[in-house]
Amino acid sequence: MPKRASSGTKGLFKRHRGCTNRGPLTSCACAWYGSIAAREVTLSKWARCTVDPHTKTVAIKVLTRVVAAVDDGTFDAAGERPPLGTAETLSHFITEWQVHYAEVQGLTQNSLAAMLDVLATGALGGHSLSTSPATPKKSNGG
Ligand SMILES: [Zn+2]
Repeated sequence: MPKRASSGTKGLFKRHRGCTNRGPLTSCACAWYGSIAAREVTLSKWARCTVDPHTKTVAIKVLTRVVAAVDDGTFDAAGERPPLGTAETLSHFITEWQVHYAEVQGLTQNSLAAMLDVLATGALGGHSLSTSPATPKKSNGG
């Protein structure tokens, strides 16, 4: 496994896989990692969102949530869990739908689970239903 390249922020680093960058970590596209208390996650996978590899801003925000989850005892290496009482995530909704609707209704198309998995584990999966693109924001271009 490639050696850690430290960012100067505690717990925030990159592993340059097949990457020759040895300068500032923000100058390559390698993923950010977060590490605390012997736990290590790829920040974008854990938070189920894009974490810009060219700036530390978002990476530090996500890392802060990793640290908070570890402190709270709610840390799950599989991914960020929304705090209780907040909006349900798309990922969670998909799981519920699959168990309580698709299986009950006998929806057995082979590709269904794979397609839902792409949605649930992709960038949208971690979004809460109240902020997902189902209610698009107004854009300038129309
Ligand atoms: Zn790199």
